[in-house]
Amino acid sequence: MQNFDVVVIGAGAAGLFCAGIAGQRGLKVLVLDHSEKVAEKIRISGGGRANFTNREIDPHAPHKHFLGDNPHFCRSALSRYTPQDFVALLGRHGIPFHEKHKGQLFCDRSADDLIQMLLAECAVGGVERWQPCGVKAVRAAGGGGYEIDTERGTVHSARVVVATGGLSIPKIGATDFGYRLAKQFGLRLVEPRPGLVPLTFDGEAWAPYADLSGLALPVQIEVGFKKEHVAFNEDLLFTHRGLSGPAVLQISSYWHQGMAIRVNLAPEFDLPNALAHAKSQSRKLIANELASLVPSRLADAWAAQNADWQRPISEASDKALARLAERLARWALTPTGSEGYRKAEVTLGGIDTRELSSQTMESRQPGLYFIGEVVDVTGWLGGYNFQWAWASAHACATGL
Ligand SMILES: Cc1cc2nc3c(=O)[nH]c(=O)nc-3n(C[C@H](O)[C@H](O)[C@H](O)COP(=O)(O)OP(=O)(O)OC[C@H]3O[C@@H](n4cnc5c(N)ncnc54)[C@H](O)[C@@H]3O)c2cc1C
Repeated sequence: MQNFDVVVIGAGAAGLFCAGIAGQRGLKVLVLDHSEKVAEKIRISGGGRANFTNREIDPHAPHKHFLGDNPHFCRSALSRYTPQDFVALLGRHGIPFHEKHKGQLFCDRSADDLIQMLLAECAVGGVERWQPCGVKAVRAAGGGGYEIDTERGTVHSARVVVATGGLSIPKIGATDFGYRLAKQFGLRLVEPRPGLVPLTFDGEAWAPYADLSGLALPVQIEVGFKKEHVAFNEDLLFTHRGLSGPAVLQISSYWHQGMAIRVNLAPEFDLPNALAHAKSQSRKLIANELASLVPSRLADAWAAQNADWQRPISEASDKALARLAERLARWALTPTGSEGYRKAEVTLGGIDTRELSSQTMESRQPGLYFIGEVVDVTGWLGGYNFQWAWASAHACATGL
C-alpha cells in the first residue's frame, strides 16, 4: 500500500493550492479528483478570466463580505493569507491581471493562467496527482492515519484534506462527497442551499415582465428588515424565467423562500420630483418621459400596467404619477424559487465551522481537514470565494 503524509481529495482551487504549499514544505502529497479535467470551476469562472480575488476584503470584518453561521470563523485564515499575497504569487509567475470594479481582480488572458500556476506550484512541491480517480471510501486506519480506497487501489495517509467544493454545477463534477464524509465521522453540517443564483417567478405572475428578457440596468436591490436588512447597488438582468445579474446573485445568498425582495429600478433619480417636473414641462406620453429615466423597454412595460399611466404626462393626476414613482422605486416581488444548483455559483452552508479549527481547518476528527467551499463560509460575488479557497488552503497547508 502506498503511503503519503497528506491525501487531498479534490483538485480544484483550494485542493491544488493546499497541495502545492504542503508539498513545498516537505510533505509527501497525493491529490485525487474524480473528474477528467483539472480545476474546471476555475476555468469557467469570471466569464473565463477568473475573478481570483478582491482588494476590498477586510479580514478584520469578514462579516461584511462572507456569510455562514459564524462569519468570524474566516478571520484568522483571511488575515494570514491576503489578496496581496496571492497577487504577489501571480507576479512571481508573470501572470498579467487587471482590476474591474469594486476591487475585483481578473486575469488579463484567461483563467487557464491560474490553473497552470497552481499545477506548477504542485510540481515544485513534488505533488502526485491521480486524475480521474474516484474515491470509494475513507476510514480511520488501525495504526493511525487513514486508509483511502481509490479507483487505483488503497493508499494510506497520515492526514486527509477534503477540498471537494460545493454542489453547484453538478455537470462539471460537483458532488456531496465532503458532506457525506463529514457525516460519516459525526461532524455537523449547516444545511446546504444554492447561493449566487438567479431567482425565478411564477409563470403567470411573471408574464408582464417576460418580454423584458435580456434587459440589464443598474438598480438598488434589498431584502430583509432591521438587523437582517441587506442592500446592493448592482446591475439587474431580466431573464425569461425571472431575474439575474450581479444584483440578484448577491441578494439571492440572503434570500429565503417566501421573502420579498425590493428593487429600486431608477436609484439615481428622485422619481416623484422628476415626474412632477416632467408634468409641468411636457406633453409627451408618460412612457416617453419615463424613457429618459429608465430603459425605454422598461418604461413601456411599466406604463402598460395601468390605464392611468397610458396618457400624456401633462394630463396625469398627481396621485397616478406618485403611484408610478412608488412602483418603480419600491418594486416588491416574491420569488417562487431559484434556478438551483444547476446555475448557482456557490453553495451556502456546508461543514459547520464549530467542528473546525479556524487556525488549521482540522476537524474534531484528528487528521481530517476541510477547506474551500465545502465549509460553511460563502463569499459575495466578486472574487471573495476564491480568496476563501486560497486562504483556507494556506491555513491548512501550514498547519498540516
Ligand atoms: C460559473 C461559476 C463562476 C464562478 N466565478 C467565480 C469568480 O469569478 N470568482 C470567485 O471568487 N468565485 C467564483 N466561483 C466560485 C468558485 O469557483 C468556487 O467557490 C471555488 O472554485 C471553490 O473552490 P474549491 O476548491 O472549494 O472547490 P472546486 O474548485 O469546486 O473544486 C472541487 C473539486 O473537487 C472535485 N470533487 C468533487 N467531488 C469529488 C469526489 N467525490 N471525488 C473526487 N473529487 C471530487 C471536483 O471535481 C473539483 O475538481 C464561480 C463558480 C461558478 C460555478
